[in-house]
Amino acid sequence: MTPLARSTLLMTTEQCRLCQTDSELQLSHILPAFTYRWLRESSGNGHIRHSLEPNKRVQDGLKRYWLCSSCEELFSRSETAFAGRLFHPYLAASGRVIRYSDWLLRFCTSVSWRVIRFYRDEGHLNNWESDALGHVSEAEIVWREFLLGRRQNPGTFQQHLLPVDQISSASADLVPNINRYLMRAIDMDICRGSRSIFTYSKLGRFIILGFVHEPNLNHWKGTRVHATHGFVEPRKYMVPRALGGYLNDKATKMRDALDSVSERQKAKIDEAFRSNVDRYIGSDAFVAMNADIELFGDEAFSPRG
Ligand SMILES: [Zn+2]
Repeated sequence: MTPLARSTLLMTTEQCRLCQTDSELQLSHILPAFTYRWLRESSGNGHIRHSLEPNKRVQDGLKRYWLCSSCEELFSRSETAFAGRLFHPYLAASGRVIRYSDWLLRFCTSVSWRVIRFYRDEGHLNNWESDALGHVSEAEIVWREFLLGRRQNPGTFQQHLLPVDQISSASADLVPNINRYLMRAIDMDICRGSRSIFTYSKLGRFIILGFVHEPNLNHWKGTRVHATHGFVEPRKYMVPRALGGYLNDKATKMRDALDSVSERQKAKIDEAFRSNVDRYIGSDAFVAMNADIELFGDEAFSPRG
């Protein structure tokens, strides 16, 4: 192959999934890179494991060639604002009042948009009936147009943000790693209730829900992300009861996945733990582990109790 032919091949372009212009696409994260960076740096041993593939250390989350450089830049602006003005300040002091402006709705919408594109584009919704797919397609268009500045707000396809923190009172049905899940997990999903559909993105202490179809808006209080400004502060949040069960199920899945780690991997984890004990003590992973020990005692250590 001549050098010319080779460079011609490298210059092939594809359509950006956000602005739909043909461009050389960038490799970008589905869930923002800074959350994985935080998870690694606060793990006490510098490594993370994907909850569904715990035998592999996953350092950096899922990535796809989806966006042109200007759309990538658009997303990174609201990510920087979210990381610097909310994500890290909340970790430092979850009880404080934090004011946000329009960057929060942009950030949440960009995350929900990426999640809905991931599940739809990669075939996870193929067996959904046409009504539900219609809602998905409508939400995707509205979120995309909002992100591109062609709409003032996402209308009924609202974004909701639920900050979470340590649970300090146990109820009988809670799984004994619930605090580790709530405080630290990075996760995504598309969920369907009896009538509602929403995207679910969990970035450490923050849960972002993108409403794809929600006929019961009055079941949610205090979680809606406003278009121009608002506050994240200690308050009574009201969410549907089913969400509590859903989070507990998610924590159970994480526990089961970690429980399936091979003996060889368990030995590696033990060794990494022993050689990093000093770094682990005082890390956020240690704080979350202790929160589970306070609630569940020895049961917190062994996945199967
Ligand atoms: Zn673009």
